Amino acid sequence: MSKPVKLFYKGEPIQVQGDNESGTTMVPLRAFAEALGHKVTWRPPDEVWLDGDPPVRPVPEGLTLSGEFFVIDAGHGGGDPGAVDGINPAEGDAISTKEAELNFLYAVKLASTLKALGAGVALTRTKQEEYLSPQQRAARANDRYPHATAFISWHNNSFKNASACGFEVLHYYTTGNSYRMAKSIVAQAKAAGIPLHGDGLVDGRKIVVLNSTDMSAILIEAGFISNPQEEINLHDQGYMERVIMAVVRGIVDVYGKKLQPQIDYRKFRHKGTDIHLAVVRNPQLKTAAADPGKRLNVAAVAKQYGAKLAITGGYSWHRKEDDTHWPVTPVIDNHVSVGKPGPLEVPRAALCQDVDGSLLIRKAQTPEELLIYKNALGAGPMLAVDGKRQIGHDEKFLADIMEGKNPRAAAGLIDEHTLVLVAVEGRTLTDAGLTLEDLADFLVAFGCKVVMNLDGGGSVNLWIDGKWIVKGRDIVNILMVL
Ligand SMILES: [Zn+2]
Repeated sequence: MSKPVKLFYKGEPIQVQGDNESGTTMVPLRAFAEALGHKVTWRPPDEVWLDGDPPVRPVPEGLTLSGEFFVIDAGHGGGDPGAVDGINPAEGDAISTKEAELNFLYAVKLASTLKALGAGVALTRTKQEEYLSPQQRAARANDRYPHATAFISWHNNSFKNASACGFEVLHYYTTGNSYRMAKSIVAQAKAAGIPLHGDGLVDGRKIVVLNSTDMSAILIEAGFISNPQEEINLHDQGYMERVIMAVVRGIVDVYGKKLQPQIDYRKFRHKGTDIHLAVVRNPQLKTAAADPGKRLNVAAVAKQYGAKLAITGGYSWHRKEDDTHWPVTPVIDNHVSVGKPGPLEVPRAALCQDVDGSLLIRKAQTPEELLIYKNALGAGPMLAVDGKRQIGHDEKFLADIMEGKNPRAAAGLIDEHTLVLVAVEGRTLTDAGLTLEDLADFLVAFGCKVVMNLDGGGSVNLWIDGKWIVKGRDIVNILMVL
C-alpha cells in the first residue's frame, strides 16, 4: 500500500507529490528538481539534463527541409589526399590523418542528416577513391543539379603552426544566402561550444567551388588536423555529431520550414450513426486541462491557442462533497502536469508525442511514465493494437464507458505522423451511437494500426477550423492540433 509523503527542503515544505511504498520513497525527478528551481530537459532516448540544455537538439523541432536540395562536396579524394598530418609523438600527436578521408566521413554524415530532415541530397564524389578537380565539382553541381538550393563543400584545415585551431565557414561575398548560411552555421557552432578560427567567417570569393557554382555555396573547414588536440576531436564520434548538428541547425535557420499540419475532415454514416473523422498529418499536439472544479469551453480554448482542431480529451472525476469535476487522467503539456492526475491503479491508454513530433499510443500505469514525452494525454480504454481490435478490459472503466451504444470520441494512428481523430454522434433522434467494438472495427477498417478511446457521452466535442462539428458540454480535458 503506498502512502503520500511530505517533502521538506532546508526546513521548508515543498509542493511535490511523492509516495512511500514498503519503505521506498518515490518522487518524480522532474517534479522534485523543478520545485527546487532547477530546469529539467529530457532528451530521448535516455538523457536527462539538469540546468542547461543539451548543446544541440538531435532534430530541430517541427521543422522540415522538404523541397530543398543540397549538393555536398567532400573535398579532395582519389590521388589527392588534401592536407596530410603524420604522427609526431614528440609533439603529442599520436594519430595520422588524410584530409580527404575525414572530409568524406563528414560529408556523408551531413548528407544523411539533411536527408532525414526531408531535403534532397547528392554528393559530388560518391567514393573515397574518386578525384574531381574544383572546376569539375562546380560543373557537376551546375549540370546535374541546377535546381539545387545550395552547394556545401567540406574540408579540414592544416597550418605549419600546430597551435592554429578552430571551425570556419568560407562564403561567397557578404550578401545573399551563402553569407546568411555561413553566419547561421557559425552562430550555431559557437552556441554548441565548437571553437572558432577567428570569428569563424571568411570571404571565399576566390575559391573555385564558391565562385563557379550557380547556386548559393559555402565551404566548411571543420578544424585543423595539424593541431594534435583538434585532430583527436575531429575523429571523435560525439564531436563529429556536434559539428554536423551545428551545421544542420544553421542550414535549417535559413531554409527550414514549419511542418504544416494537414487536416482532412470526412463524415461517414455507419450503423445508424454519424461519424465525424479528421485525418491529421504532421500534427503539433497540445493538451489543456481545467483547474479543479472548472470546465473548459472547447471553442474558447482552441481560439486562445490558435488551434486548428480541438477534441474531447480524457475523463473527469466527480467529487461528491462539493460537486466538482477534476481531470483524473494524466494530461501533460511540455512536461508540466496540470490538474491533479494522481496515480492510476491500472495501466491506461495514452496518446503521446515525442520531441521530434512522432506519435504513439501506449499504456501507462502512472502519469510519471508519460513525462518522457513532449505531450501526453491519458484516457482509454485501448480499442485496437497492431491493426486488430483489442479492447482494454484490463483498464477497469465503468460500464457506462465499456458497454452499450454511446456518443464517443477516439484517437487512432495510421503511422507515427498520421493521427485520426473521431467524434461519434449518439444523443440525437437520428443517431444511435456506437459500441466500443463497432468503433474499434470501423477505425481498423479505416487503416488505424492502434486506437484508443477518449471521453464520450455528453462530453463529445469536435471543433475544426473555427467551426463546431459536434458540440457537447464544457469539459475538463482538451486535445488540440496547433
Ligand atoms: Zn581541403
